[in-house]
Amino acid sequence: MIQHGHFFVPGPTEVRPEVLEAMRRPMIFHRNAEMEALMQRVTTRLGAVFGTRRPVHVITGSGTAAMEMAVRGGSRRRVLSVVHGDFGERFAKMAESCGRSVERLTAKPGDTVPLDRVRDALGKGDFDAVTATYSETATGVLADIAGIASIVRERPDCLLLVDAVSAAGAVPVTMDAWDAGAVVSASQKALALPPGLGFAAVSEQFVERARALGDRGTYLDVLRYEEFAGKHQSPTTPAVSLLFALDFQLGEIEAESLERRFARHTAMMTACTAWVRGVESATGVALVARPGSFSPSVTCIRAKDTNAPVLRGMRAKGYELGGGQGELSKTSFRVGHMGDHTVAGVEAMLDVLEQVLRAL
Ligand code: PMP
Repeated sequence: MIQHGHFFVPGPTEVRPEVLEAMRRPMIFHRNAEMEALMQRVTTRLGAVFGTRRPVHVITGSGTAAMEMAVRGGSRRRVLSVVHGDFGERFAKMAESCGRSVERLTAKPGDTVPLDRVRDALGKGDFDAVTATYSETATGVLADIAGIASIVRERPDCLLLVDAVSAAGAVPVTMDAWDAGAVVSASQKALALPPGLGFAAVSEQFVERARALGDRGTYLDVLRYEEFAGKHQSPTTPAVSLLFALDFQLGEIEAESLERRFARHTAMMTACTAWVRGVESATGVALVARPGSFSPSVTCIRAKDTNAPVLRGMRAKGYELGGGQGELSKTSFRVGHMGDHTVAGVEAMLDVLEQVLRAL
C-alpha cells in the first residue's frame, strides 16, 4: 500500500485522510432540505473555482461524462478540436462518436498549436464548436485558453468547450471572462477528492443551443441539470458520500484561498521542472513540455529508455508515479503535483526519484 503523501499519479491524486473521513457520515435523502443546503453551498463555491456566475452542475460520473454533456448539448455539426495530447484527442473522438464532423489541429507532444492556426482554421470552416484542453494531462502542457477564447469569441455562433479536468483548482479558470460555452472538470484531480464526480458549467447560449438540439439523451441532458439546479437538487440520486467530501474540501480550499492554492501549484511545478533540468545531463531524462507552457498540475518527463524501470524503482521505494499516455505511453513518466500535495512533499519525492534514476 502506498502511504499518504507518496501518491504522485496525475489522477486520481492524493486524497488526505480528513477528506476521506468526511465521507463517513450517515446517508441523507437527496430531496430533503439538508441536501439542498449542501448543494447550494457546493455550487456557489464551485462557481469561484470555475470563474462563473452560472451553476456548476455536479454529475455522478467521471470527467468523461462532463465532456460528453458538453459535446452533446454544445455542438451541432462541425467541431474544431485543438489537440495537445491524448486527452485533446479523446475530446475530438468523442465529438465524432456523437456524429459531429471534426477537424483537428494537432501539436507534436510537448508543443502547442499556435493561435494563428486556430484563427485560420476557424476562418475557413463553418464550425459551431471548438474543443480544447486547458491542462493536457498526457503531455504536461498548459494551453493558452484565454488566447483561444478570444479568437472563438469573434464568432458569435461558435461555442468554446473547455476540458479543465486537471486545471480547475490548480490554475485560474475564468469561464465567464472567456465567454466559454462550457467548462468541465472532475473530482480526482486538482480538487483532491476521490474519483466519481464530474463538473460542468455551461453558458446561457449553450443552454439555448441544447434546447434546440433534439438528441440529448437522458443522463447527460444538460437541460435536466439546469432544471434541478433551480431547486438545488440533482436530477438523479447523487453520490451522497462524495458530496460530503466535496462540501468539506471546498471549505478547505476557501480557507487556503484560491490565490494561495494557485501559487502553491506554480511552486510545485517550478520545483519539478527545475529539478528535471538540473538532473538532465546526469540521468538522460528531459521535459516534454516547453518553457512557458508547463502545466502547474502535472509534469511529463521523457525517460532515458523506457519508463518501466523508473516506475518499478519508485514503487520499490514506496512511491507511485504515473506512466506515459498515448504516443508517449512507454517512453515517458508523469508526476502529478496537484491538489493537496506540497512543495516539501514534491521535493522529498524528487530526491528519491534522483536516487532511482542514478542507479539505473
Ligand atoms: N481530460 C483530461 C485532461 C484528463 O486528465 C482526464 C483524466 N485523466 C480526462 C479528461 C478524463 O477524465 P475521467 O477519467 O475522469 O473520465
